[in-house]
Formats: sequence, structure tokens, C-alpha cells
Amino acid sequence: MEPYDSISAALVREYPSLLDLYQDLHGHPELSGQEEWTSERVGKELEAAGFATTRGVGGHGVVGVLTRGSGPVVMVRADMDGLPLKEETGLPYTSREKTRDARGQEVHVMHACGHDLHMAALIGAARILASRQDWAGTLVMVGQPSEETVSGAARMIADGLFSRFPRPDAAIALHVAPEIPAGIIGWREGIISAGGESLDIVVCGIGGHAAHPERARDPVVLAAQIILAFQTIVSREVPPGELGIITVASVHGGSKHNAIPDEVLLQVNIRYFRKEVRDLLLNAIKRVTEGIARSAGITPPLFPRITLLPQSVPPMTNDPALTRKVADAFLQCYGADHVLCIDPVTGSEDFGIFGLIEPRIPICYFRIGCGDEKNTCGFLHSNRFSPPPEVIRDAAGALVIAAEAILDRAPLHPPGR
Ligand SMILES: [Zn+2]
Ligand SMILES: [Zn+2]
Repeated sequence: MEPYDSISAALVREYPSLLDLYQDLHGHPELSGQEEWTSERVGKELEAAGFATTRGVGGHGVVGVLTRGSGPVVMVRADMDGLPLKEETGLPYTSREKTRDARGQEVHVMHACGHDLHMAALIGAARILASRQDWAGTLVMVGQPSEETVSGAARMIADGLFSRFPRPDAAIALHVAPEIPAGIIGWREGIISAGGESLDIVVCGIGGHAAHPERARDPVVLAAQIILAFQTIVSREVPPGELGIITVASVHGGSKHNAIPDEVLLQVNIRYFRKEVRDLLLNAIKRVTEGIARSAGITPPLFPRITLLPQSVPPMTNDPALTRKVADAFLQCYGADHVLCIDPVTGSEDFGIFGLIEPRIPICYFRIGCGDEKNTCGFLHSNRFSPPPEVIRDAAGALVIAAEAILDRAPLHPPGR
């Protein structure tokens, strides 16, 4: 039964302290870019597990390295940031944290995306792998900040993640998934999550009195036409079967019932799997926006202003050979009833960026079920999201099995010593 019985025993042994760690992390969430306490906590745990640990990599990033002879370098990543939500789970370890967001506004903070569970699983895997003698190679455990702003991975790379530390031959990560039943691992080769772009569109007009629309050029009516026309891009221009989403998530214009404003600001998000669809959506958004403005008599100085924001994220693509290797290890260990090939999701994730730096590092990102038929734990980014804590065991075990599938099985001590 080696090695699975020994991993199970280690998980049972570690679980009480991982649960303590999880509850501590859950009760002290920090926003993207503010993960000071969290990264210190993760750093201390990696040090205690025997990893040479460096803090402050690309902001609050943490890197722990453990080498056992020569062999593959495997990076295991967990994200560390929380979200500006007021927790309503009713859990005894509910977060009561508040902070100021990037705009200076006071907000509540909550781990509503499972990153607390990912960190506990990372530490569990680090401890268990450090205690096992049957692998050779190098482990690089990464606590990544600012996943929710899809900026932490790029900042860690820019700060030398792949030059100051051993360059990975493979990188793995996981995410909890309420839409998958607890006890099941979801995997997929190729694209596993969507690319996304955010845009600001300022729709310009000529303000005036509400009683005299004929003297104005009403940008509110223009904005309404533009919002509806975007959905025709999706239904009539994106080829059937391709993913193309345009969401106008925020509309701001005007300040009074009887005054037509000069401008309306639209905050727009697009999602896609293929770059061709991204380009199609962006070109069509520009064409439709300008065309509608022109039809209302708006001329160039007042044409809509479209700004593509820096927080763009490419689709995440799992390396087929690496993913098959990891999925085979899961199948061998857990059996076909617990390992599921899943569809890609329209959410986005910046772990994929670790796999896009030349020469490319194969990545494998998989999902750990935490749901049930009644959706007891709630959905990601909901202020009621509360995955069953026992999922820490599944997640830590899966990271150990995935890492060992990639690491060498060479004996640590050569015969005769
Ligand atoms: Zn999230
Ligand atoms: Zn997340």
C-alpha cells in the first residue's frame, strides 16, 4: 500500500495543527497587496518545516526551497489574499478584520475564495514532503500575493522568482471548487480558465437641462444603446461554440434628476479562451461604441474614450504531458470515482503567467471539490462561502501526490553508505 497509507497517516497526524493554522488564517484575511501578516505566518511555517525561506519577493511573496540531491525542480504555489467582503458565515472563527482599500475606503476583509485553505494545504504538503525520504529533487513552495488583482505572479517573476531561486521544471497549484463534490479532484489538459480584460469607456455627450434634451447630446441614452449593442457582438459576431463574454459591470453618470450629464463611465470586462476572440471582442467594442456615438451626431473630440486597463490576464493552459502524469497519479491513488475530467471555467487566475515565461515551464492547475448537492458551502466570492475544513486533508494530500509524481523516485542514500 506504500506510499498511500503513509500519506494518509501523515495527513491524520498533521490535520489538527493544519486546522488551527487554517482558522488563524481565516480569521486574519488581508487584501491584495497587504498580505504582510499572512506572508509572515506562511514564511514561519515553511521555515519550521525545514525550507530555506525568503520573504518580500514581488511584494509580500514568500519562497521556501528544500533540496534533496539532484532531480526535478517542482514549484507548488498557494495564493494568499482575501476579498473586501463582510463575512456572514456565522463560523466561530469568522473574520472581523477591516482595512482601507486602494481608494482609501474602509472595507471588511474575508477569505471568500479559499486561499486560506490553499495556504493550509501548502503547509501540510511542505511538512509531509519534508518528512518523506522517497524523493529526490528540489521543492519550491510559493506563497503568492495579489491573486485577486491578477498581479502577484507577474510581480514575483519580475522580482527574480525564476533567477534568484531554482528554476522550476514544473509548477503545480490547486483551487477549491464548490461546484465539484467534496472528495473529488477535477483536472483538465489544455485551457482550464479564461483570459480576461478590463476596460473603462467614457461615453461623452453634451450636458444640459432635462427639459431640453434637444439642446443636449444625452450620453445616458448613448450608454444604454452601447450596453445593449455589446450583447449583439456576443450573439452575432463571436462564432458559435467559442467563449466570448462582455459584461458591463458598472455604469456611472449624472448626479441629479433634471440635469443631463456630459459623460457616462462604463466599466467593462471581457472573457475569452482564444486570442482571436479577444481581438474580435476588443475591435467590435471600439467599432460599435464609435458607430453609436457617430449616429447620435457626436464628432471626434467627443468620441468615446476607451482605455484598456493593465489588469489583464491570459487564459491559463495546463501542459498536456505534465497534467496526464499528475492525473494518472491521482487515478492510481484515489480511483476513477474520485478523479474527474472537468470543463474549463470562465473565471480567471494568474497562476498561468508562471507558465508563459520563455523557456516555458509546464504547469498543472487542478481543482479540489468542496461542494455538495445543496451547495451548503456557498459559491466562491460569496460572503457565506465556507468550505468544509476537512478539504484541507484532500488538498494537502493531492499536492503531495502531484509533487511526488514529478519528483525523482531516486533513493536518497546511495547503497553502501
Ligand atoms: Zn477569487
Ligand atoms: Zn481564488
